[in-house]
Amino acid sequence: MYNIAIDGPAGAGKSTIAKIVAKELGYIYVDTGAMYRTMALACYRAGIQADEEEKVVARCGQVKVSLAYENDTQKVYLDGEDVSSEIRKEIIGNMTSAIAVYAPVRKILVRMQQEIAQKNNVVMDGRDIGTAVLPNANLKIYLTASVKTRARRRFDELMQKGQKCDLSEIEKDIEERDFRDMNREISPLVQAEDAILVDSSDMSISQVVDTIKSLVK
Ligand code: C5P
Repeated sequence: MYNIAIDGPAGAGKSTIAKIVAKELGYIYVDTGAMYRTMALACYRAGIQADEEEKVVARCGQVKVSLAYENDTQKVYLDGEDVSSEIRKEIIGNMTSAIAVYAPVRKILVRMQQEIAQKNNVVMDGRDIGTAVLPNANLKIYLTASVKTRARRRFDELMQKGQKCDLSEIEKDIEERDFRDMNREISPLVQAEDAILVDSSDMSISQVVDTIKSLVK
């Protein structure tokens, strides 16, 4: 199997790029952030706060997160219910990085991700794919961009979806999320030694896609 790992901070363009690369290569795109988001949603719905570690871990052990592909699009299910849209809410995104610090939560999802990559050619994106999930991936990309660029992209994305938002608040959220993701004890966001750094701040989507495709070749 050919495995491509794409890691990087929130809003670097990982999912946009990974989706296109996967489609053009005929691979499966695996959005691991969606899996962590689904776990956060399960806790949120149960009225559990992110800092209630025992309750979070227990809840995540009870629920079933599963993926399905419809028209090349990844759908994520929580106990059989399609929650693909609901997990995109900002409140869930922020809660996600707070529950993603717990080892048992990561263990469940990492195992699922490894099983998918064993059976399929994948483009998998996340924070720890090149370092922890697929240390032997054929190609590892660390995709980043400046905080300002990333906040602006998130802002445009949310506005397009008709969600009300504030640019400076998004910038603050991104900085907080980066800090949590980069400073947690288990599998922090870090560039793998053998990952290729791509800074997309001044690159178009097609330039990034072409860069990755030529690396695959
Ligand atoms: O990529 P996305 O923004 O959807 O991820 C949401 C959060 O899930 C991240 O901020 C991070 O805390 C967590 N995550 C993770 N490991 C991954 C993917 C996402 O810890 N492989």
